[in-house]
Amino acid sequence: MRIDVVSIFPAYLDALDLSLAGRARASGLLQVQAHDLRDFTHDRHRTVDDTPYGGGAGMVMRPEPWGEALDAVAGDDAVVIVPTPSGRPFTQRDAERLALEQHLVLACGRYEGIDQRVIDHASTRWRVEEISLGDFVLNGGEVAALAVIEAVVRLLPGFMGNPRSLQEESHGPDGLLEYPVYTKPAVWRGLEVPEVLRSGDHGAIARWRHDRALERTAERRPDLLERPDDHADGGGPEAP
Ligand code: SAM
Repeated sequence: MRIDVVSIFPAYLDALDLSLAGRARASGLLQVQAHDLRDFTHDRHRTVDDTPYGGGAGMVMRPEPWGEALDAVAGDDAVVIVPTPSGRPFTQRDAERLALEQHLVLACGRYEGIDQRVIDHASTRWRVEEISLGDFVLNGGEVAALAVIEAVVRLLPGFMGNPRSLQEESHGPDGLLEYPVYTKPAVWRGLEVPEVLRSGDHGAIARWRHDRALERTAERRPDLLERPDDHADGGGPEAP
């Protein structure tokens, strides 16, 4: 997969050299390039913003550098992703869908956002998705770009050492949040790992995990239980 990110702070994307995404890059599974939007300006001050038409506070990103940047980095097969708090909420289903693409281009806004004509024009040439990380406002799209990239890249075939861990986690096929997890020691600061997890009884462990997942989802995200996924009955997945 190829990913291009356009930003006025391309150094934000240096974090991708760390951890698993860095390994995916090193192995050739992933090519990521960050581009400085200011490289697509032509004035002495490398201006990327201006005052908003209609008045109001803040500055808006000018369309010309964005147009040139997208022309330069987005090929015919690109999906252009525009992080914005007014976008559709980004979910695991989106990550799964985007993991099947060849080329993603992330356009990171700043200030009050990007002139709408950039998105409207890009939509005539590429598939454009305006996505939101959640109901809060960040200063720029770079953190959202990092989040999208990490969520997508860990789904690329061959990325995860053990692909089973992608099945057994929050927002997976059963639509539930993950059950609580524990490791050694069995007792820590007087708190014990639940007995059942040390029992070796795989059926009991699977049932316990499913019940905890259901409980946790009902408590924290009851909206997830209203979706038509298959998670309502007990029992949970069969242990190997
Ligand atoms: N004026 C915009 C509004 O009210 O919708 C907010 C602009 S925000 C200060 C600047 C940039 O941060 C946005 O263009 C977007 O790239 C990014 N951003 C902020 N919040 C975000 C969120 N929840 N999800 C994704 N991107 C976000």
